[in-house]
Amino acid sequence: MFTTNQRCGSCMQIVDLRFDHVAEVRRRDPRPLNEQVPSHIRGLHIQVQEDADAVEGVGRGVCPKCGQPMMASFATTRRVLKSIIEHLADEAPLFGGDGLITVTDIYPAVRKPSETTDWPDPVVQNYRDAFEIRHAKVSDSAKVSAFVTCLEVALKALGTTGKNVRSRIDDALEKKLITEALHQWAHHLRDLRNDAIHDGTAEEGSADELFEFLELFLHMTFRLPREIAAKQD
Ligand SMILES: [Zn+2]
Repeated sequence: MFTTNQRCGSCMQIVDLRFDHVAEVRRRDPRPLNEQVPSHIRGLHIQVQEDADAVEGVGRGVCPKCGQPMMASFATTRRVLKSIIEHLADEAPLFGGDGLITVTDIYPAVRKPSETTDWPDPVVQNYRDAFEIRHAKVSDSAKVSAFVTCLEVALKALGTTGKNVRSRIDDALEKKLITEALHQWAHHLRDLRNDAIHDGTAEEGSADELFEFLELFLHMTFRLPREIAAKQD
């Protein structure tokens, strides 16, 4: 068998994708006239293939978590591609594993985290953690806690003061860094985190909506002001 560790574009989980079908991607570019077969061997079909040739392949399989089809295109050598195809049905993984190929694309495509170029580094780091946790198989309580941690880091980066998240959220409103609606949402998120800490529970299914709020919060506090300033110049 041949498996590669990839993120499924359907369920967003990182899974071991086992290929059940692999093929070489063949490109048939027309050859320039002066490279065509010389007259004395015209009529012979010559095809020189070396084991070390760089080739592109495509592998197909099913996500072990959600059962949806997945496809990966990858770069490798002809030797490796041949050996992957020969060992597809084996139960033992092919020696060398994942490192034998370089995956260039996954279908369906994986959704990327939002544009983060305007966000401060600690915020980007925490946002990426929150993004990973959002798609992990953990409870909504754990997800909500990670989102609040990211919110807190963002509030610090915005220059708010206060001894806890609650006072920082209020400080952000006082300093007109956030709108009243964002202020209420932030408190809502913090309340859910506190419930989760005290009861070990969070409203199941709420994590997706809360993550969208977190993204909106980061967009409105770090990106939007710069966009507006750029327009005013
Ligand atoms: Zn999946």
